[in-house]
Order: sequence, then structure tokens, then C-alpha cells
Amino acid sequence: MSTIGRATAISPDQSGNQLAGLLDQKDPGRIGDRLHAFIAELYPLCRSITGDGVRETLRVIGQHLPLKMHEIPSGTNVFDWTVPPEWNIRDAYVKDADGVRVIDFQRSNLHVVSYSQPVKARMSLNQLKEHLFTLPDHPDWIPYRTTYYRKDWGFCLSHRAYERLREGEYEVVIDASMTSGSLTYGECLLPGETEDEVLVSAHVCHPSLCNDNLSGVAVATFLGAYLLTLPRRYSYRFLFAPTTIGAIAWLAHNEHRVSRVRHGLVLSCVGDSGKITYKRSRRGNAEIDRAAAHVLTSCGVEHKVVGFSPYGYDERQFCSPGFDLPVGCFMRTPNGQFPEYHTSADNLEFLKAEQLEDSFVNVLRILQAVDRNETYVNLQPKGEPQLGKRGLYSAPGSGENLALLWVLNLSDGKHSLLDIAERSGLSCEAIYRAAQLLVRGGLLERQRAPVSAE
Ligand code: ZN
Repeated sequence: MSTIGRATAISPDQSGNQLAGLLDQKDPGRIGDRLHAFIAELYPLCRSITGDGVRETLRVIGQHLPLKMHEIPSGTNVFDWTVPPEWNIRDAYVKDADGVRVIDFQRSNLHVVSYSQPVKARMSLNQLKEHLFTLPDHPDWIPYRTTYYRKDWGFCLSHRAYERLREGEYEVVIDASMTSGSLTYGECLLPGETEDEVLVSAHVCHPSLCNDNLSGVAVATFLGAYLLTLPRRYSYRFLFAPTTIGAIAWLAHNEHRVSRVRHGLVLSCVGDSGKITYKRSRRGNAEIDRAAAHVLTSCGVEHKVVGFSPYGYDERQFCSPGFDLPVGCFMRTPNGQFPEYHTSADNLEFLKAEQLEDSFVNVLRILQAVDRNETYVNLQPKGEPQLGKRGLYSAPGSGENLALLWVLNLSDGKHSLLDIAERSGLSCEAIYRAAQLLVRGGLLERQRAPVSAE
């Protein structure tokens, strides 16, 4: 297998351009439908924290983004953790005395507890039941279970199927391998004007689950493809890694350069019909936190902003005290707060194209708010400059004039555009547009050394 940090380029093709201009299209369902179709393509793959399901997932993402795959060998120590053996599965089933597959991995990859040890045995129903998991409260759903760091095996099934099992001898087979291989993650860097980076991360370790894992993967992939086509002040790093161990492995191998991460977002559960939830970084008031809160409020988006907690997705690792990166988490309904969470009901029908698109648009707005958050200087600060003679004055009382006046008043080299947007209550987009007009009118210039908002 490969050595640490070996990177393989996956077809950096031109397909990123296929999304160019999508936001300008009048057909509102279009991005959402494409996100949903992309998720449907990834849905059948049996992902876990290692193995070929992750590699295949990254290969599909690589059709949209210039992605590099990294392989971290099993047994590698990453901070307090060790990369586990690589797990791959070909087939698994439980057959009754008549030879009928009463539980069949081929029908749903959720039927096998992820990271189950290989098994080939015959046993009684009572012995088998010690390894079966169901959800009595939702008798038609299959639960999702894992046993990454404890040697065990098991099957998950609907409670109704469980109740149909009869006394007798069962044949139990899990045709899986646990070998010295590697953990795989994918990374895509889009260079910008500066080497300072914005990190966008999504986990890729859940099998056929949609809102939890694939919705974030899809929105991150399409954002990357879209940002490829735009001018960028920051460099953008997209990370697709298995949760916890993958993020920790990435941090361990990039410790020397994580200080370049100036802003970041973890994306997860972005396709359900709930309202948007933004979870602040550990810092609580980082620029990304302020931008997210202001964008969602000023754009009239129904949302909730919650404080940091050391539970959830990989913000737990990025915001661990040894790194304390300014990384928030963008979700709709958070993990564990919808009944379908970690069950077979988190499927393609559970995701809504409209909500996927709404998440895409709002994450993009937040990223643009930080990318454009520079500080400007008013070149005519003594009294208000006369806008009319420069053709900058629109109808009295229009929001456009107000944005121009706010930008002129607060552009004293000490206030960034986000500061001005917050203080005026106007959207970051309106403030940015006003600044662009004033620059073109010769009344404003970009400050050479931008003042950090933090
Ligand atoms: Zn999960």
C-alpha cells in the first residue's frame, strides 16, 4: 500500500464549468435537482471509515472537482488515535433452515454492522439474536450501527422482519476482510489571491444514508465546482474524509499549515425539510460565525444559530483546543434531532431538492461574505461627497443610497464590509455592491493591509 501523504490526482477535468452560471438560471429547481441526482449516484455505495466504498465515492466526486486522494496506512499513529485495519465487504447474509436469505446485505448495506468481523457459522436463533439490532419504535426501519474500534459483528434489520424469525438453525455469513491497508481521504485546493484558506469539510463514511453524509458531500462538491469558476480572494480547501479518524489524520498530516485556515465550515444534514441551523465555532465570534449569522438574518432566511458544543461532526476535531480553528457547522436539522437519523429512512425520499438548493445558496452567500470582507478607505471623508454629480445617487430613500452612505461613513480604514453590514443591518451583498460602485466612482479604495476582524 501507499506511503503517508501519497497523493493521486483524479481526473482534474473541465466538468467544474458545467455548473457555471447555474445561479443565474431562472429555473429554481435546477441546482437542487442536480444535487439530488448526484446523491442518488452515491447512495448505493457501501462506505465506511476505510475501504473501497470511500475510494469509489471520491472517484465520483473527482468527476466534478480536481480531487487528490490521500492514503494513510493502517497502524499509523495520528495524535491519540491509530488508523485501523482496512475493512471491505463483498457479501453477507443470514439463511434460515430452508436456505432462504432472511437478512441480505445485497438488499441494503445497512443490514451489516459496519466493521463487522468476518463470520461463517451455524447457530440457533437465540445465539443469533445476541447480534441483531432493531428499532421497535419504528418497526419498518433498519438501524445503522458500527463497531469500528471493538472486534464484534452484527446484523441490523427491521423489527417486523425480526419478529418473523422462527426457531431453528441459521447459517450466518459475513464475507468481509480486515487487512493492513489504508484510510483514504480526498482533498481539493482551489488557489486564490492569497494562501490563506477557507476550509469546507464533509464526512464520507456512512453507507446508504442521505441527509447524514451524502447531502453535505453533494453540496460541498457543487460549491467547489462553482467556486472554480469565480474569482477567489482566499484559497479554498475542500476535504472529504471519514469522520473523526479521517479529520484527525488530516490535522496530524497538516499540522504545520493549519494556521492558514482563516475560516471554515463543516457541512452535514443539509437536505432535510427543517430550517437552517448554524453552529458557531468554539471561538464563538469568529468572522465566519458573524458572517453566517448576519447573512441568514439579513437575507430573511428562517434559521437558528446555536453555540458550540464538543459533539456533532468534525468541528469537534477542528475546534479541539490544540487547534481552535474558526470552523462552524452548517446544518438543517442537527444530528440526532430527526427520527430518521441513522436509519434506513434517511433515504432519497427524505431529501428535498428545494432544501438542498437552499443550503447550497446560503453556504455560498456565507463564503462570499467572508471572501469579500475587506476594508476600504473613503477618499472624500470631509463631509459627504456629492453623489449626484458622479451619477451615483438613485431615487431618494432607496436602499441603494443608504448602502452607499453607510459604506462612505464607516470606510475609515477601521471597519470591514462585514462590520458595516452588521451595523447598518443591510445585507453583505448590498454593502459589497455599494463599495464596488464607490470604487468605480473614485470615492473609495481598498486598504492595502486589511484590518483583521478578529
Ligand atoms: Zn452519522
